[in-house]
Amino acid sequence: MENNKNYQKLLQKELEIIKNSGKKPKLLLHACCGPCFTIPYEILKDCFDITIIYNNSNIYPPEEHDRRLNELKKYLADVGSDIKIIEFPYDNDTYNLDLEPRATDKEGHERCRICFRKRLKAGFEYASKNNFEYYGTVMTISRYKNAQDINKIGESLQKDYPTVKWLYADFKKNDGYEHSLIIIKEHEMYFQEYCGCKYSYEAWLKKKAQEND
Ligand code: SF4
Repeated sequence: MENNKNYQKLLQKELEIIKNSGKKPKLLLHACCGPCFTIPYEILKDCFDITIIYNNSNIYPPEEHDRRLNELKKYLADVGSDIKIIEFPYDNDTYNLDLEPRATDKEGHERCRICFRKRLKAGFEYASKNNFEYYGTVMTISRYKNAQDINKIGESLQKDYPTVKWLYADFKKNDGYEHSLIIIKEHEMYFQEYCGCKYSYEAWLKKKAQEND
Protein backbone atom coordinates (compact mmCIF):
# COMPACT_ATOMS: atom_id res chain seq x y z
CA MET A 1 0.00 0.00 0.00
CA GLU A 2 1.18 3.48 -0.87
CA ASN A 3 2.53 5.41 2.14
CA ASN A 4 0.67 8.57 3.09
CA LYS A 5 2.68 11.73 2.57
CA ASN A 6 3.04 14.27 5.34
CA TYR A 7 1.79 17.32 3.45
CA GLN A 8 2.22 19.59 6.45
CA LYS A 9 5.97 18.94 6.31
CA LEU A 10 5.94 20.00 2.67
CA LEU A 11 4.13 23.17 3.70
CA GLN A 12 6.70 23.90 6.40
CA LYS A 13 9.55 23.50 3.89
CA GLU A 14 7.79 25.86 1.47
CA LEU A 15 7.25 28.44 4.23
CA GLU A 16 10.96 28.32 5.11
CA ILE A 17 11.89 29.01 1.47
CA ILE A 18 9.44 31.92 1.35
CA LYS A 19 10.68 33.38 4.65
CA ASN A 20 14.28 33.23 3.41
CA SER A 21 13.33 34.94 0.15
CA GLY A 22 12.12 38.03 2.05
CA LYS A 23 9.07 38.17 -0.26
CA LYS A 24 5.38 37.82 0.50
CA PRO A 25 3.80 36.03 -2.46
CA LYS A 26 0.14 36.36 -3.44
CA LEU A 27 -1.89 33.41 -2.17
CA LEU A 28 -5.47 32.63 -3.12
CA LEU A 29 -6.86 30.57 -0.25
CA HIS A 30 -10.08 28.62 -0.57
CA ALA A 31 -12.08 28.74 2.67
CA CYS A 32 -15.31 26.89 3.42
CA CYS A 33 -16.16 28.47 6.81
CA GLY A 34 -14.75 30.46 9.72
CA PRO A 35 -13.72 27.54 11.99
CA CYS A 36 -11.65 25.85 9.25
CA PHE A 37 -9.89 29.13 8.44
CA THR A 38 -8.55 29.76 11.95
CA ILE A 39 -5.35 27.67 12.04
CA PRO A 40 -4.43 28.10 8.35
CA TYR A 41 -4.66 31.86 8.96
CA GLU A 42 -2.33 31.63 11.98
CA ILE A 43 0.20 29.61 9.99
CA LEU A 44 0.10 31.52 6.70
CA LYS A 45 -0.55 35.15 7.54
CA ASP A 46 3.08 36.21 7.97
CA CYS A 47 4.30 34.53 4.79
CA PHE A 48 1.64 35.43 2.26
CA ASP A 49 -0.43 38.27 0.91
CA ILE A 50 -3.71 36.33 1.30
CA THR A 51 -6.99 36.66 -0.58
CA ILE A 52 -9.83 34.28 0.31
CA ILE A 53 -12.02 32.60 -2.26
CA TYR A 54 -15.42 31.50 -1.00
CA ASN A 55 -16.77 29.22 -3.74
CA ASN A 56 -18.92 26.73 -1.88
CA SER A 57 -22.06 26.01 -3.86
CA ASN A 58 -21.94 22.55 -2.30
CA ILE A 59 -23.37 23.93 0.94
CA TYR A 60 -27.06 23.30 1.59
CA PRO A 61 -29.41 24.93 2.41
CA PRO A 62 -28.61 28.46 1.16
CA GLU A 63 -29.02 29.94 4.65
CA GLU A 64 -26.24 27.64 5.80
CA HIS A 65 -24.00 28.80 2.95
CA ASP A 66 -24.52 32.41 4.04
CA ARG A 67 -24.17 31.62 7.72
CA ARG A 68 -20.74 30.03 7.18
CA LEU A 69 -19.65 32.98 5.04
CA ASN A 70 -20.80 35.44 7.69
CA GLU A 71 -18.95 33.51 10.36
CA LEU A 72 -15.79 33.78 8.30
CA LYS A 73 -16.29 37.54 7.96
CA LYS A 74 -16.95 37.87 11.67
CA TYR A 75 -13.72 36.05 12.48
CA LEU A 76 -11.71 38.31 10.14
CA ALA A 77 -13.22 41.35 11.84
CA ASP A 78 -12.48 39.86 15.29
CA VAL A 79 -8.79 39.40 14.49
CA GLY A 80 -8.56 42.81 12.78
CA SER A 81 -7.77 41.38 9.37
CA ASP A 82 -8.55 43.25 6.15
CA ILE A 83 -8.21 40.12 3.98
CA LYS A 84 -10.49 40.38 0.97
CA ILE A 85 -13.03 37.64 0.22
CA ILE A 86 -13.90 36.78 -3.37
CA GLU A 87 -17.49 35.49 -3.19
CA PHE A 88 -18.61 33.19 -5.98
CA PRO A 89 -22.33 33.11 -6.85
CA TYR A 90 -24.27 30.38 -5.08
CA ASP A 91 -25.81 27.72 -7.35
CA ASN A 92 -26.47 24.52 -5.46
CA ASP A 93 -28.75 22.98 -8.13
CA THR A 94 -26.12 23.13 -10.86
CA TYR A 95 -23.40 22.06 -8.45
CA ASN A 96 -25.34 18.95 -7.48
CA LEU A 97 -25.64 17.70 -11.05
CA ASP A 98 -22.13 16.24 -10.68
CA LEU A 99 -22.72 14.93 -7.16
CA GLU A 100 -26.13 13.33 -7.71
CA PRO A 101 -24.82 10.14 -9.40
CA ARG A 102 -22.88 9.48 -6.16
CA ALA A 103 -25.68 10.60 -3.84
CA THR A 104 -25.55 7.40 -1.78
CA ASP A 105 -21.78 7.50 -1.18
CA LYS A 106 -20.72 7.81 2.41
CA GLU A 107 -18.72 10.91 3.33
CA GLY A 108 -15.06 10.51 2.39
CA HIS A 109 -15.66 8.51 -0.80
CA GLU A 110 -15.95 9.35 -4.49
CA ARG A 111 -18.64 12.02 -4.09
CA CYS A 112 -16.27 14.00 -1.89
CA ARG A 113 -13.40 13.68 -4.36
CA ILE A 114 -15.70 15.05 -7.08
CA CYS A 115 -16.70 17.86 -4.73
CA PHE A 116 -13.08 18.73 -3.86
CA ARG A 117 -12.07 18.73 -7.52
CA LYS A 118 -14.94 21.01 -8.60
CA ARG A 119 -14.16 23.68 -6.04
CA LEU A 120 -10.39 23.43 -6.37
CA LYS A 121 -10.57 23.66 -10.14
CA ALA A 122 -12.70 26.82 -9.99
CA GLY A 123 -10.16 28.32 -7.60
CA PHE A 124 -7.20 27.40 -9.79
CA GLU A 125 -8.92 29.08 -12.73
CA TYR A 126 -9.46 32.24 -10.73
CA ALA A 127 -5.90 32.21 -9.38
CA SER A 128 -4.46 31.75 -12.84
CA LYS A 129 -6.51 34.56 -14.40
CA ASN A 130 -5.72 36.94 -11.56
CA ASN A 131 -1.97 36.37 -11.26
CA PHE A 132 -1.82 34.59 -7.94
CA GLU A 133 1.45 32.81 -7.29
CA TYR A 134 -0.01 30.19 -4.95
CA TYR A 135 -3.35 28.52 -4.44
CA GLY A 136 -4.43 26.34 -1.53
CA THR A 137 -7.37 25.36 0.66
CA VAL A 138 -8.09 25.24 4.38
CA MET A 139 -10.13 22.04 4.07
CA THR A 140 -7.38 19.71 5.30
CA ILE A 141 -7.93 20.94 8.86
CA SER A 142 -11.06 18.80 9.04
CA ARG A 143 -10.74 15.39 10.65
CA TYR A 144 -13.25 14.12 8.11
CA LYS A 145 -11.46 15.28 4.98
CA ASN A 146 -8.72 13.18 3.49
CA ALA A 147 -5.61 15.32 3.03
CA GLN A 148 -4.13 12.73 0.68
CA ASP A 149 -7.11 13.09 -1.67
CA ILE A 150 -7.17 16.89 -1.47
CA ASN A 151 -3.44 17.31 -2.11
CA LYS A 152 -3.37 14.78 -4.94
CA ILE A 153 -6.26 16.60 -6.62
CA GLY A 154 -4.50 19.96 -6.13
CA GLU A 155 -1.26 18.52 -7.51
CA SER A 156 -2.98 17.07 -10.59
CA LEU A 157 -4.88 20.33 -11.31
CA GLN A 158 -1.69 22.37 -11.04
CA LYS A 159 -0.50 20.82 -14.31
CA ASP A 160 -3.24 22.75 -16.14
CA TYR A 161 -2.33 26.05 -14.45
CA PRO A 162 1.47 26.24 -14.65
CA THR A 163 1.76 29.81 -13.32
CA VAL A 164 0.10 28.89 -10.02
CA LYS A 165 1.78 26.75 -7.40
CA TRP A 166 -0.38 24.39 -5.38
CA LEU A 167 0.19 24.95 -1.66
CA TYR A 168 0.47 21.52 -0.08
CA ALA A 169 -0.85 21.34 3.46
CA ASP A 170 -2.44 19.15 6.08
CA PHE A 171 -3.52 21.65 8.70
CA LYS A 172 -4.91 19.05 11.08
CA LYS A 173 -1.35 17.80 11.75
CA ASN A 174 0.61 19.00 14.79
CA ASP A 175 -2.65 19.24 16.78
CA GLY A 176 -3.98 21.82 14.30
CA TYR A 177 -7.53 20.55 14.65
CA GLU A 178 -7.38 20.61 18.47
CA HIS A 179 -5.96 24.16 18.44
CA SER A 180 -8.72 25.27 16.12
CA LEU A 181 -11.30 24.11 18.70
CA ILE A 182 -9.74 26.44 21.27
CA ILE A 183 -9.94 29.42 18.89
CA ILE A 184 -13.51 28.53 17.93
CA LYS A 185 -14.47 28.61 21.61
CA GLU A 186 -12.61 31.85 22.29
CA HIS A 187 -14.39 33.60 19.43
CA GLU A 188 -17.75 31.95 20.14
CA MET A 189 -17.95 30.81 16.55
CA TYR A 190 -20.77 28.83 14.99
CA PHE A 191 -19.37 25.36 14.28
CA GLN A 192 -21.42 23.33 11.83
CA GLU A 193 -22.31 19.72 12.57
CA TYR A 194 -22.29 18.39 9.02
CA CYS A 195 -19.92 18.78 6.09
CA GLY A 196 -22.07 20.83 3.74
CA CYS A 197 -23.94 19.22 0.84
CA LYS A 198 -27.58 18.15 1.00
CA TYR A 199 -26.48 14.51 1.19
CA SER A 200 -24.40 15.12 4.29
CA TYR A 201 -27.19 17.33 5.68
CA GLU A 202 -29.78 14.58 5.24
CA ALA A 203 -27.45 11.98 6.78
CA TRP A 204 -26.94 14.28 9.77
CA LEU A 205 -30.69 14.85 10.19
CA LYS A 206 -31.26 11.09 10.09
CA LYS A 207 -28.56 10.49 12.71
CA LYS A 208 -30.04 13.14 14.98
CA ALA A 209 -33.52 11.62 14.65
CA GLN A 210 -32.15 8.17 15.54
CA GLU A 211 -30.35 9.58 18.59
CA ASN A 212 -33.61 11.20 19.77
CA ASP A 213 -35.67 8.02 19.32
S1 SF4 B 1 -19.76 15.43 2.31
FE1 SF4 B 1 -18.67 17.40 2.11
S2 SF4 B 1 -16.92 17.03 0.73
FE2 SF4 B 1 -18.37 15.30 0.55
S3 SF4 B 1 -19.66 15.84 -1.20
FE3 SF4 B 1 -20.71 16.58 0.63
S4 SF4 B 1 -20.01 18.72 0.92
FE4 SF4 B 1 -18.63 17.75 -0.56
